[in-house]
Amino acid sequence: MPSYSGTIESKLPRVGTTIFTVMSRLATEHDAINLSQGFPDFECAPELRALATKYFNAGLNQYPPMAGVPVLREAVADKVVALYGRAYDVEHEVTIVPGATYGIYTAIAAMVHPGDEVILFEPAYDSYAPGVEVNGGKPVYVQLTYPDYAIPWQAVQQAITPRTRMIILNTPNNPTASVFSAEDLRMLEGLLAGTDIIVVADEVYEHIVFDGHRHESVARFPGLAERSFLISSFGKTYHVTGWKMGYVCAPRELMAEFRKVHQFNVFVTNGPLQYALAEHMKDRDAYLGLAAFYQKKRDFFLAQLEGSRWKPLTSRGTFFQNLCYDAISDERDTDLAVRLTREHGIASIPVSVFYREPPRHKVLRFCFAKSEATLARGAGILRRI
Ligand code: GLN
Repeated sequence: MPSYSGTIESKLPRVGTTIFTVMSRLATEHDAINLSQGFPDFECAPELRALATKYFNAGLNQYPPMAGVPVLREAVADKVVALYGRAYDVEHEVTIVPGATYGIYTAIAAMVHPGDEVILFEPAYDSYAPGVEVNGGKPVYVQLTYPDYAIPWQAVQQAITPRTRMIILNTPNNPTASVFSAEDLRMLEGLLAGTDIIVVADEVYEHIVFDGHRHESVARFPGLAERSFLISSFGKTYHVTGWKMGYVCAPRELMAEFRKVHQFNVFVTNGPLQYALAEHMKDRDAYLGLAAFYQKKRDFFLAQLEGSRWKPLTSRGTFFQNLCYDAISDERDTDLAVRLTREHGIASIPVSVFYREPPRHKVLRFCFAKSEATLARGAGILRRI
């Protein structure tokens, strides 16, 4: 292949390979226990696989409707109204998308103009800032407090300018495992009242909230629902991260703009899988039982770590547990994560990579969406460090 000899002015000059790919690859190379990238090491429900097979064999293999198949849009709208009390119109306000990452990106592309500012909370999930920058927007960062990863509302207020177009809120939060409260959402609602600022609400872990707390969706708050893209992922909820299926709910005016971009970005989302998910969603227990399922895994992992030198930070939701290693090492988290994978056979995610200017917190993120056998082996290694 001849090489390209022209000049490339990169739209994302600082972007390399994502930390999830880097750490998962390193884990494979060293045959390490992979608690880095967030995905289950167990199978999805056999009924869901059976439904997928059924619909792949049902002669539904051509383009489905642009917004998604009506039965799945209805199932999503039914769930959202049942859980959060907000009725989204199936025709105009719900769109099925190929994954939450895509939904977030498309919402940004539809709304952010060159020079617009987008407020992000750090540590920030890695796709947000590149999504903003590639569309000519300017990320404006507000750091969550440490070690409780709370929102410093005064700093948010100060970060808002006449150029602020959007704020991206992720609760339950990756990578911090924080869950923002009703009070937090009311604060945001108050701050945004009377502005044109749009909210992108990344709620992919909406069903994974622990210790009896509840998920505070933007859909519950009228002043937020009216300006928000509510985005979720079937990947997290049904243990099918490789399917890349998700949905977006938004008021009609916002959704109309979203769909303008969507129809030229991907046009439609996988049809047979939409029918399979729609049928599977009738079983409400699958998502209503998810918090207890993962809380048991969190508690199992933490119990296995008792007596070790790792200090657990509070995990209120998601399937991540952050561990502080200040009693163990002075290394940077990026160095330690690599060394643990190579020398000890356990892979994690260094939290500093989710900051533009990382504070020197000593925290690694471990994914506990794993079988108890995997978690016990992983914790066994950590106990000896
Ligand atoms: N969201 C997953 C995580 O946080 C990874 C997704 C990805 O690999 N891009 O680990």
